[in-house]
Amino acid sequence: MDIAVIGSNNVDLITYINRMPREGETLEAPKFQMGCGGKGANQAIAAARLGSRVLMLTRVGNDVFAENTVANFAANGVDTAHVLRTEASSGVAPIFVDPEGRNSILIVKGANGLLSPEDVADAAEDLAKTKLIVLQLEIPLETVYAAIEFGNARGIPVLLNPAPAHPELDLDRIKGCDYFMPNESELALLTGMPVENPEQAEEAARSLLDAGIRNIVVTLGSRGALWINKSQTKRIPAAPVAAVDTTGAGDAFIGCFSHCLVTGDDLSGGSAIFDRDLEAPGDVESALNAACRYAADSVTRLGTQTSYATREEFTAKAH
Ligand code: ATP
Repeated sequence: MDIAVIGSNNVDLITYINRMPREGETLEAPKFQMGCGGKGANQAIAAARLGSRVLMLTRVGNDVFAENTVANFAANGVDTAHVLRTEASSGVAPIFVDPEGRNSILIVKGANGLLSPEDVADAAEDLAKTKLIVLQLEIPLETVYAAIEFGNARGIPVLLNPAPAHPELDLDRIKGCDYFMPNESELALLTGMPVENPEQAEEAARSLLDAGIRNIVVTLGSRGALWINKSQTKRIPAAPVAAVDTTGAGDAFIGCFSHCLVTGDDLSGGSAIFDRDLEAPGDVESALNAACRYAADSVTRLGTQTSYATREEFTAKAH
């Protein structure tokens, strides 16, 4: 296995509405659609579509949504041996979209809220065979901390995407992560500093370096990304595209970065694009360049997972 994603899965229940019903009112809505989501699942699927061997440690409920989620992982080549059944509902996200495209979203954590430090310990044997552990914050914080400690104890690099922003995240307990990857609003919330432009992002990221975090990558939407560690600061430019839907761009970015970093697959746009050596780790900068290109490609299509290209689709487009 190349990558272990320890995180959430959700089923998006998207209802297209003419308007929100008032209290006590029943209204007809023109359209309904279901989709697979959850930050953990999205990142796992992006990496698997690019060719990584991905193990997913997650909890699903005891309902019809669980079947849907497991089938979706399997169809995308994500290993489901550690997709655990739970006596609870699956994580679901009822989403209402009005005719102007505005979203109102509810998130029911369901089984995601029950993924525990014991689940990490139970999967130890298989987790120990992976080359990168990828985490987000849609599962309990104690589980995130346990996974970081596990990675550190076994010498496995850990990537933490602190999304959605969590005001109680304890910086002291995440110092062991090798890659810390917030977006601008998460960085602002975590540091209490303004992050409205790349210069402010750099200043806020530097304060996390001072707090002991090794590598900070801030995703800056259409402005690309910023990578800071003790020895350097690098701006990674965005690929210019006509964006139609940026939902899930951050997850595409992390899935692609993880894939390129652990496999050495060079998708950064250089001439080595077809010379992948899937056993050799890649360098961080080319993995970040690839991630910017891959995430930019995803914003040119509607949806979240539906907008993630396979390796074949992505490389065909690059030429
Ligand atoms: P989301 O929450 O929608 O998944 P995010 O806020 O976590 O996204 P962003 O920083 O918005 O993440 O975007 C992640 C990456 O996607 C950026 O670093 C950039 O590389 C790419 N990206 C996003 N929006 C655009 C865009 N309009 N044009 C080009 N690239 C984009």
